[in-house]
Amino acid sequence: MSPTVTNTDVLVVGAGPTGLLLAGDLAEAGLSVVLAERRPHKVSNLSRALVVHARVLEQFDARGIADEVVAGGHPIDRLALFEAARLDPSRLPTRYPFVLFTPQYEVEKVLERRAREAGVAFAYETKVVAVEQDADGVTARTRDKDGRPGATFRASYLVGADGVHSSVRPAIGQPFPGDTILSSLILADVRLGKAPDRPFVVNAVPDGFALLTEMGDGLYRVTGWNRRHQLPDDAPLEAEEIRELLRMNFGTDYGITDIPWKSRFHSDERQAPAYRVGRVFLAGDAAHVHSPAGAMGMNTGLQDAANLSWKLVAVLRDGAGDRLLDTYQAERHAVGKLVLRMSGTLVRAALLRGFATRLLRRVAGMVVSDFRPLADKAASMITGIGIAHKAPRGAHRLTGRRAPDVKLAEGRLNELQRGGRFVLITPAGQDADVPGHVVHAHWAGSRRTTALVRPDGYFAWATDRPDAESLRATLATWAGTATPSA
Ligand SMILES: Cc1cc2nc3c(=O)[nH]c(=O)nc-3n(C[C@H](O)[C@H](O)[C@H](O)COP(=O)(O)OP(=O)(O)OC[C@H]3O[C@@H](n4cnc5c(N)ncnc54)[C@H](O)[C@@H]3O)c2cc1C
Repeated sequence: MSPTVTNTDVLVVGAGPTGLLLAGDLAEAGLSVVLAERRPHKVSNLSRALVVHARVLEQFDARGIADEVVAGGHPIDRLALFEAARLDPSRLPTRYPFVLFTPQYEVEKVLERRAREAGVAFAYETKVVAVEQDADGVTARTRDKDGRPGATFRASYLVGADGVHSSVRPAIGQPFPGDTILSSLILADVRLGKAPDRPFVVNAVPDGFALLTEMGDGLYRVTGWNRRHQLPDDAPLEAEEIRELLRMNFGTDYGITDIPWKSRFHSDERQAPAYRVGRVFLAGDAAHVHSPAGAMGMNTGLQDAANLSWKLVAVLRDGAGDRLLDTYQAERHAVGKLVLRMSGTLVRAALLRGFATRLLRRVAGMVVSDFRPLADKAASMITGIGIAHKAPRGAHRLTGRRAPDVKLAEGRLNELQRGGRFVLITPAGQDADVPGHVVHAHWAGSRRTTALVRPDGYFAWATDRPDAESLRATLATWAGTATPSA
């Protein structure tokens, strides 16, 4: 008996943060989306991230979910990276000038509910094991929880958001070159006899670092690394190792009473050369991984999703050309490379030993903490606020840059973007002919520039001398030409 084939516009593989945001965006835009996840429903993704940065909060704001995510976390205005180095986003020009501490599963909860409400078809206990593509679409074969052949999906596009051990990546012939950068990292959930006076504490010493974060229900998450205990991933993690890690960094083990879960893992620095192969895309950890330093992994994956979703919508729903999808590779591979470099620099500086290297580390620390212009630059890059895409030669200076959440005559930019909309901003009083999925707004002041903001909050195009023809061509390239019916 041949297996059932389920047709869908897009098959997203992996219900981690990247897949959830992407699937939610696509479904909100009216596309049919299946989200295949090998885990059973409600069984946690091994939740790791604790930090959400400002740029992702801006992306969430443009979807109406930032307030909820912020309310569930702890905003702090400084994040200790190592020794003298602190990330200080408090001077950044954003609505969210802080680092938000919140467990990854809290972020996933909000994203999952949004995706469900938007109509994403969740297929849990469905592991994608084979991917084939032809000129018209992609076919994915799956296995169920018992390893038996499961549903077959046929989609116009497939996105592998299936994490570091992606099945999609090898299925499209992509290697994952790079190295292991930190081994024998410790991750554990503990109960404490005497809790710290803050929801999280963090410290780094010459022999390692530790982070202790409140997770709710009396649990604390320990994350850390101890140079003195370097063992293979499968070596049992002893309770004493966890205690020693805490004592080494905080002078106390907080009287650990119980360790319901513990694990040892390693951290790699790797990036797939191609994020797009035909009709298949890679996003999130499936495309890039790096050390937890700087807390950028989930944040980068979420921005991959925000970059790709509107492009798929523009092509599938609004008639934009296929070449638009190539900009995903051009833009996000470059950002991934930059993030690998930033995170690698931080982790290497944090782990250096010896006098000369300690000196270097202090200098690196000063760069991220003491010298204001450089510290602000570092904060803007790590939080994603300062990241821009390469603009074509001769383009207006705004092209490719992040569009800040300015107040326009019709309201805040991020609010106008909701529903995955482009926003065309023109000088006050000026008319423009735009399709239904583009919002036309006006600068609140006397600014003369005309600019098109993409749904992911970057300027697609801008000009100080607008003409109807270049505006029409820009809208056709970036936003497609069809007007959505709903
Ligand atoms: C200790 C630690 C701390 C971290 N802290 C931070 C932080 O503070 N901030 C930050 O931004 N990042 C942080 N990260 C990184 C962050 O956890 C990851 O970048 C993030 O989880 C990646 O999300 P993702 O959706 O791309 O992949 P994942 O979260 O790995 O999700 C992939 C999903 O795909 C599913 N899957 C896999 N294969 C298949 C298949 N074949 N078929 C169907 N489903 C499949 C998996 O079950 C999983 O649910 C940290 C990482 C570590 C290790």
